[in-house]
Amino acid sequence: MELDAQLNDAPCGYFSITAEGLLLRSVNRTMLHMLGYDSLELANRHVESILSVANRLFFHTYFYPYIQLYGHVKEMYLALRTKDGRDLPVLMNGVRQERGGELFIDCVALEMNKRIEHEKDILRTKTQLEALYQATHEANMRLEQLHAEYEAKQQELLRLNAQWEALATTDPLTGLRNRRFFKDSLAALLEDNARTGQPFSLLILDIDHFKRINDTYGHPVGDLVLASLAALLRTASGSADIAARFGGEEFVVLMPGADRASALEAAERYRAGVEAASWEGLRITISVGAATVSPSDTDESLVNRADQALYASKAGGRNRVTHAEAEL
Ligand code: GH3
Ligand code: MG
Ligand code: MG
Repeated sequence: MELDAQLNDAPCGYFSITAEGLLLRSVNRTMLHMLGYDSLELANRHVESILSVANRLFFHTYFYPYIQLYGHVKEMYLALRTKDGRDLPVLMNGVRQERGGELFIDCVALEMNKRIEHEKDILRTKTQLEALYQATHEANMRLEQLHAEYEAKQQELLRLNAQWEALATTDPLTGLRNRRFFKDSLAALLEDNARTGQPFSLLILDIDHFKRINDTYGHPVGDLVLASLAALLRTASGSADIAARFGGEEFVVLMPGADRASALEAAERYRAGVEAASWEGLRITISVGAATVSPSDTDESLVNRADQALYASKAGGRNRVTHAEAEL
C-alpha cells in the first residue's frame, strides 16, 4: 500500500507491522527521517531492528500481548533505535487493523526529545531547589546558633558591665559607695528637688583625732577602724539613704526626703552609735555636720554648708552634731 503525500510528511512517524512483527514498506517519511533510514531499507525487517535493546523485551512482554487483548495501545513510552545506534525516545500509539483478511498493527510515534529534556530540566531544577533549601536550612540553623551565642555574649557583657559599674562606684577599703557615686547621687537629688520640691539632707561624718589612731596603733589598725565604721553606717542607715566614703576618714550620708529634724535625729543616732560601739579598747567618736537642701543650693554650696557645720562640731569640742541652719 502506498502512502499518500499528506501521511508521508505528517508531523508524526507512521509505520505498520504484520502480526509476526515484520515492518511493511509503508513507513512514512517522517519516521524514516527520525530513524535515519532510506525508504526501502526497513521493509520486511523485524520491528526489533528499530527498537533499543532494552525495549525489545518490553515490546514482546507488553506491547504485543496488550494489543492482542485490547486491539490497541495508547501513550506508550519507549526508545527506538536509529540507524546510527542512538536511542530515540518516543510516545507511541498502536492499533490493530484488519485489511484484506490480514491483521496489521498500525503505529504512530511522536518524538519525545524535547519533553524528556524538559523533564530533565525540571528534575535538575528540583535538585537545585532541594540543595538550595538544604543550604538555606543549614544557614538558618547556623544563624540561630550565632544568635544564641550573641545573646549569651550580650548577657555576659551586661553582667560584666554591672560588675564594672559596681566596682567603679565602690570604695575598696570599706565596701561603701565612693565619692563619685555620691556626687552623681547628689546631682540627681538636687535635680529632683528643683522639680518636685522634695527635701533631702546631707551628713558629713568625720572621725575625731583619727590621726592619733594611726600614729598610736599603726595604719592597718586605722584601716580596720574605717571598715568597722563603714559597716556600722551601712547597718544604721535607712534603705533609701546613700552612705559613701567621701575620702580619708570622712563619710557622707545622703538622706532623700529628710528635713532638718530627721537629719539631726539620724546624725545623733550615728554619733551615739559610734561612741557606744565596742572598738576593742579604743575610743572612737565622730563629729557630724548636717545640712538640708534649700532652693538656692548647688552641690558645692550644700557640701560647704555641711562642712562648715562639721567644722563647728569640731570647734565645739568634737563628738557632736551640728546642723548648718540654726534652730528657728
Ligand atoms: P580631726 O578630729 O580634726 O578630724 O582630726 P583628725 O586627726 O581625724 O584629722 P586629720 O585630717 O588631721 O587626719 C586625718 C587622718 O586620716 C590623716 C590620715 O593619715 C588618715 N587617713 C586618711 N585616709 C586613711 C586611710 O585610708 N587609712 C588610714 N589608716 N588612715 C587614713
Ligand atoms: Mg578629716
Ligand atoms: Mg578627723
